[in-house]
Amino acid sequence: MSMNDAPRSVRLHIGFFGCRNAGKSSLVNALTSQKMSVVSDVPGTTTDPVSKSMEILPAGPVVIIDTPGFDDEGGLGELRVEKTREILGRTDLAVLVVDARKGLNNFDRELLGLFQEQKTPCIIAWNKTDLVTEQAPEGVGFRHEVGENVRQIRVSAKTGENLTPLREMIGQTARAMEKTREKPIAADLVQPLDLVILVIPIDESAPKGRLILPQQQVLRDLLDHGCQVLCVREKELASVLEGLSRKPSLVITDSQAFGLVAKVVPEDVPMTSFSILMARYKGVLKAQLKGISALRQIKDGDRILIAEGCTHHRQCGDIGTVKLPAWIRTYTGKAPVFETSSGLSFPDDLEKYAVIIHCGSCMLNEKEVIARNEKAARRGIPITNYGMVIAQVHGILDRALQPIPEAKEP
Ligand code: SF4
Repeated sequence: MSMNDAPRSVRLHIGFFGCRNAGKSSLVNALTSQKMSVVSDVPGTTTDPVSKSMEILPAGPVVIIDTPGFDDEGGLGELRVEKTREILGRTDLAVLVVDARKGLNNFDRELLGLFQEQKTPCIIAWNKTDLVTEQAPEGVGFRHEVGENVRQIRVSAKTGENLTPLREMIGQTARAMEKTREKPIAADLVQPLDLVILVIPIDESAPKGRLILPQQQVLRDLLDHGCQVLCVREKELASVLEGLSRKPSLVITDSQAFGLVAKVVPEDVPMTSFSILMARYKGVLKAQLKGISALRQIKDGDRILIAEGCTHHRQCGDIGTVKLPAWIRTYTGKAPVFETSSGLSFPDDLEKYAVIIHCGSCMLNEKEVIARNEKAARRGIPITNYGMVIAQVHGILDRALQPIPEAKEP
């Protein structure tokens, strides 16, 4: 990834759905002028979507999720419904491609139902308008009753008709999404010109030549609000604090350095972590705090799911596989069983777990983070995150929550 690339987790995720014969792939290719790779030509053999990061103007950087097409027979089936729900979990905008000559079939209606259920905004692209003859009854397939949050447009992947208005519709969704992101991450906890210290460990697991996304986002947020920001490694923190002529208003640390930072930072200086701020920003703070109490009730043999958002988690190193299990065994005095999941897969059979401990999700978009938390909530399984657990086992969670007003609300 080059420095100027938008990280995947902040890109608009657009899912393309539709039957095989609706011309979904040609529409995706026409919109993006790039060939998406074809996974399989045999109908129904793959349920895995192809995702690609690309640029669609005027929306900007997006992730296109090209879902497998369905055939015109039968219904979605239980497996595909589950799979579709999973994809919708990370889809900000669904584009349903329909053959304009044929109108909505059962698949399309089922898909529309799932979009509604998952509250995913949708555009129906009535494709192949070039083949709709003059003689065809006006509006065949168009103007269906399709529910809320659905916009419709007639397009032709072949002639290019209305591709620009479709891109513009996608752009509108991207802008709306950006608006919701404008909320502060940490800046509302301090005043302009306040001094904020960011503690950023640079070890072999830190990516080369750059900061990780939550660090960049917090830094940018504080700069936008006119704060003074001092970035320092945990090793230098003590000397830096000593040399300061004014007290910092807030110290934000990577949770891996929690133990040390809590000792070095004076008690009267507010301290928290990137992970707590990001959980708050993504709207899952309270739910994840509730999950922490489940840790205290762990019994021997209970299953704990350690869930990570990516598979190439170099920057998370061995936290999930080695450190967390060891800390939890010591903290609880019990011998639970640890299971892991990673990347875009997140288990369906959550019921078997006593608690889910999720990573900081820096590679997942906000929609997916919320979807995973809601999935756990629906099944009544407590969910929390790495940073909170690390704070808890070091006995400093209460301190790390002090600066966060929402944590004090009942
Ligand atoms: S926080 Fe999660 S998504 Fe981010 S690098 Fe670590 S394991 Fe991957």
